[in-house]
Amino acid sequence: MANILVIEDEPGISAFVAKGLRSSGHQPTTVSTGAEGLGHALTGGYDLVVLDIGLPDIDGFEVLRRMRSAGSRTPVIILTARASVDDTVAGLEGGADDYMAKPFRFEELLARVRLRLRSTAPAEDTVTLSHGDLGLDLRTRQASVGGRSVELSAREFALLETFLAHPEQVLSREQLLSRVWGYDFDPGSNVVDVYVRYLRRKIGADRLLTVRGMGYRLTDPS
Ligand code: CA
Repeated sequence: MANILVIEDEPGISAFVAKGLRSSGHQPTTVSTGAEGLGHALTGGYDLVVLDIGLPDIDGFEVLRRMRSAGSRTPVIILTARASVDDTVAGLEGGADDYMAKPFRFEELLARVRLRLRSTAPAEDTVTLSHGDLGLDLRTRQASVGGRSVELSAREFALLETFLAHPEQVLSREQLLSRVWGYDFDPGSNVVDVYVRYLRRKIGADRLLTVRGMGYRLTDPS
């Protein structure tokens, strides 16, 4: 089951897609404006986004551009009128993964949804993220450091999961805020710094480096 965000302003299409997704075992959320869709997409709580181009406020290309510039890597399938396929292919270079020309059969969309989910999801049996001797079990939500197991709060878990998905990469406070706390969180908040301190106490300060003026980086000190 995947959480799928459907950003589509035509009620008929939106209902058609949502119904099909639900009956295929997925959990759809539908919104009808670009701004609302962007807000949802940037929470990081979706496995995939189905995005219409023609929306009443900001168009789908702009939604996609803002998602990618905010660091979102959620796969996106664009819905477009058949006559606009050329424009859409240009949009794909803006960071979309695939497109569907309207009208389409639900099975065509579902095939693309499955493909995109497969290419991003870890294999079924992957339940541990690790970097060096730091591990995180996604089922038990326990971390281990050099074989010692460490209890994490829900936020600490989400923060460490985010770092482990991007080891050795600098993640900015804004990226961490939007992925772990959600889009609406006050960007002036120091909550990221506070939770990085908590995590350092549990996993070792030498694993979470401060990159001055940029953010934080998970590293393997061994
Ligand atoms: Ca539309």
